[in-house]
Amino acid sequence: MPRDSNSHHSTHRSRAFRIFTCDECGHKMRLRGAHCGYCYADKNRWQRPGTYVALLVIVVLITLMALVT
Ligand SMILES: [Zn+2]
Repeated sequence: MPRDSNSHHSTHRSRAFRIFTCDECGHKMRLRGAHCGYCYADKNRWQRPGTYVALLVIVVLITLMALVT
């Protein structure tokens, strides 16, 4: 099915951080959870909290390494 790759940058830039629009049904999703709350379609990677948690952990580790060494 055609996934519109243009839809994500407008969503990414202009909406509040915790609000995303489902690619499948257009439902406004919160950050929490890995699926749309309405149709249970998988979120994109950048819509998932785990992505941000992983990035945060990496940044913290790098910062700690820089401080310790
Ligand atoms: Zn949906």
